[in-house]
Order: sequence, then structure tokens, then C-alpha cells
Amino acid sequence: MPHPDFHFDLHCHSRASDGTLTPSEVVERAVAQQVDVLALTDHDTLQGLDEARQSATTTGLKLIAGVEISVTWNKSTVHVVGLGFDSHNAVLQAGLLTNRAGRDERARRMGEALARLGILGAYEGARERAGNKELISRTHFGRFLVDQGVCTNMKSVFKRFLVKGKPGYVEHQWATLSQSIEWIRAAGGQAVLAHPGRYQMGREKLRLLIDDFKTLGGAALEVVSGSHTAEQTPQMAALAVEYGLLASAGSDFHSPGEGGRELGRMQAMPVNCTPIWHDWKDLP
Ligand code: AMP
Ligand code: MN
Ligand code: MN
Ligand code: MN
Repeated sequence: MPHPDFHFDLHCHSRASDGTLTPSEVVERAVAQQVDVLALTDHDTLQGLDEARQSATTTGLKLIAGVEISVTWNKSTVHVVGLGFDSHNAVLQAGLLTNRAGRDERARRMGEALARLGILGAYEGARERAGNKELISRTHFGRFLVDQGVCTNMKSVFKRFLVKGKPGYVEHQWATLSQSIEWIRAAGGQAVLAHPGRYQMGREKLRLLIDDFKTLGGAALEVVSGSHTAEQTPQMAALAVEYGLLASAGSDFHSPGEGGRELGRMQAMPVNCTPIWHDWKDLP
């Protein structure tokens, strides 16, 4: 068991996907926020891990390899975080490559959809804001729309334009739940169902998802998340216990001052859960 006072943040983003800080800046910020163990979990890419690992060696921070895989499950998009894998693994790398491959075409279609509303240049604006051109995300569109003055903040831009049923949303087929877990496990990592409280699905559908996730070899629920409300955390803890899953914790930090959560600033892990790190060996 790692030191009980260790502070874990096992979910955050850099410019390798839709964060705004470089991987080194994320590591430096995590150190400043008293994080002891950090996983950088960019969307569908391992691109930031080498730089983050390099930066972490000059600090006391322990860096865990991470990724957040986009998944289509029963017509819903869900996210699966992978932790502690071998980032050179060919199966994982190939899987992530196929998941990234559709993003540019999707982004072009989002640009066309927004152009039909009279908002021009959105694809170019999003692309310009992407630190990794293989990874244009809705977040980059959101930042473009805020910069254009179309909306005042990211929350309203998503609500008005970028979520299912809204004019800038484009349906997309991501990896299957089974593929995402297979890729992570092939690389020796643990699969975590990210921010389960955030999916807009009823209680019964969420239970089906958790059941499938467990059956397919998933290891943990992200019980503590920057995207969860105070009430959701104990609910997710109860589900983790019920399904015999471990519990993970992550801020889902993307950017300073964008309304999201700060690195390392989350609720405490509920005491009835077994943390995913309970048997992690190589911690300081
Ligand atoms: P994508 O992978 O391109 O579908 O973009 C998904 C990303 O959009 C998520 O990882 C979040 O960073 C961001 N996002 C999703 N919903 C919202 C929201 N309501 N407000 C702000 N950001 C959001
Ligand atoms: Mn994101
Ligand atoms: Mn997510
Ligand atoms: Mn995330």
C-alpha cells in the first residue's frame, strides 16, 4: 500500500489533446498543487507522455502512463481511462491510431454544420487551436466560438452547439468498449470507466454499462472526478463496491481558468472503496 498521505491525480490533459498546457507545464503545475502521483491521460494519444516523463524525473513526482479512450457503447459516447501500461505497446498504439483517424473528417463536418448557421471558419479556427493536429476536439471548437464572441464561456458553448441534438454536433463511431479494454490490457494497464456520473443515461443504463465494463475486464470506476457533483461521489462509490470494482480519482484538469477543475483538487476517496493504487508497487 502506498503512503496513505499520497495525493493522486489520475486524469488530466495537455496540449497533446484538448488541454492548453504543455506536458511539462502540467507536471510543474501538479508539483505546485502537491500532487505526488500523476497520470497524464490525453484523449486517444500517447504523444505527451515522453515529455511529461522527462519533466517528472527532475521533480519528486511519480508519473503514471495514461490515456483516455473515446468509446461508443449502445449509441452513447463514454470514456475509458487506461493507467500504468507500457506506452511502447504496438496493440495499444495501433488501436489509438484508428480511434484518432476519424477525427479530422468529423471536425470538417462540424465546421460545415456551423457554417450552415453562419459561423464561418470554425474548422480552421479549431485546427489552429489544436496543439496536436491529429486531435482536433470539440473543446477546440468551443474555444474558437468563445473567442469569436458567439458564447461567453465553454459551458454555454457546449450546451448551445456541441452536444448531441445541437447544430454543431456530428455523430461519430469510436472504438467499442471491448476494444478499449483489450488495448489497455494488452499493454499491461488497468482500465477505468471515466467520470461515470457524467453520462446522461438513466440509472438502469449506467448499471448495464458498468456490468459490461466489469465483464469485459475493466478494473475500476472513476469514483472521484472533477466532473462529479458532491452527491454523485458516494453514489459512484456504492456502485464500485457493488460491482467489485476498484476506485480511481482524477481532476480531469484541462486548462487554468476555463471553469474546469484544478489539478489535484478533488474530493477525498470515499472510505468504503478500494483505491486502484492499493497494490501499486513501484511508488516512492
Ligand atoms: P471530443 O473528444 O472531441 O468529443 O471532445 C470531448 C471533450 O469536450 C471532453 O473531453 C471535454 O473536455 C469537453 N467537454 C465535453 N462536454 C463539455 C461541457 N459540457 N463543457 C465543457 N467541456 C466539455
Ligand atoms: Mn477533454
Ligand atoms: Mn472524458
Ligand atoms: Mn478527460
